[in-house]
Amino acid sequence: MKNIAIIGLGLIGGSIGLKLKGLGTGDRVLGIPRREETLKKALEMGAIDEGSLDISRVAEADIVFLCTPINLIIPRLKELAPHLKKGAVVSDVGSTKTEIVSQAEKLMPKGTYFVGGHPMAGKEQTGIEVAEADFFKDKVWILTETSRTRQKALEEVEEVVRLLGPKVVRMDPKTHDLVVAGISHVPLAVAAMLVNLVADSEQKEQMSQCASSGFRDTTRVASGDPVLGRDMFVTNRVAVLKTLKNFRAKLLELEKLIKAGDAAAIEKELKSAKEFRDKLFG
Ligand code: NAP
Repeated sequence: MKNIAIIGLGLIGGSIGLKLKGLGTGDRVLGIPRREETLKKALEMGAIDEGSLDISRVAEADIVFLCTPINLIIPRLKELAPHLKKGAVVSDVGSTKTEIVSQAEKLMPKGTYFVGGHPMAGKEQTGIEVAEADFFKDKVWILTETSRTRQKALEEVEEVVRLLGPKVVRMDPKTHDLVVAGISHVPLAVAAMLVNLVADSEQKEQMSQCASSGFRDTTRVASGDPVLGRDMFVTNRVAVLKTLKNFRAKLLELEKLIKAGDAAAIEKELKSAKEFRDKLFG
């Protein structure tokens, strides 16, 4: 039986708690959110066994999951670190990893360990109200591995994460950040700027009137939490800028083909995109 503490009980923290509690493994789930209101809601929903607003309660935990907004993960870790018991392992769910993991590894007191994590599951709404026990089922959960990672700690986190239902993939933080820049952060940049393109267009009214499922699906992620998006761009600056540069080059290639009226080459580009996407999503 383990004592598991979840700091931040929103979509992700709440979903972790709901699943762990639902499994009935006997592990004890302690929730530490920011507001009393969230604490009450988490207890009502059965996402935690017990809750507190007092961060020093992490002293009881064998494993801690930091599930606050990205920019609060390190500040909260600084507050809780002195209270950790020997052997405790801390993980997080932040959407970017290089900055968080390198700072966290330096902050851990002797005899305690950090393992970075990121569940590749998301939705546009946030907050405990939209948490779901099966939110991570059949998704991917990335755990980071660095030269400072203690294997036993990684295995302990992996064991708990597997209970939540995802496939676990191990990666170094830099690779993680490039991966999410390509499949999450730059797509958000494109979706948001596409929406702004329409909003700022002289044909805004007519475009709005005519926009249908294609535009809605292409821009779905632009309806996500702007604070989460902001933190992704700010804390994954290097990988996002590198990927945006590559994307600009891709757009420029297509622009050149359109300018040249090269129908065969345009079709070839679209065909290769269709084939790859169809393989990805069936
Ligand atoms: P969320 O639903 O907004 O939940 C954030 C939680 O953090 C809230 O319960 C909030 O408490 C709590 N919180 C805020 N400030 C806090 C503080 N100072 N101390 C303790 N708790 C605090 O956000 P989320 O979507 O779960 O995202 C949480 C993390 O998951 C982020 O780091 C994000 O990068 C990562 N993530 C998100 C997604 C996604 O699609 N949303 C996907 C993968 C990973 P109150 O309720 O009391 O305000």
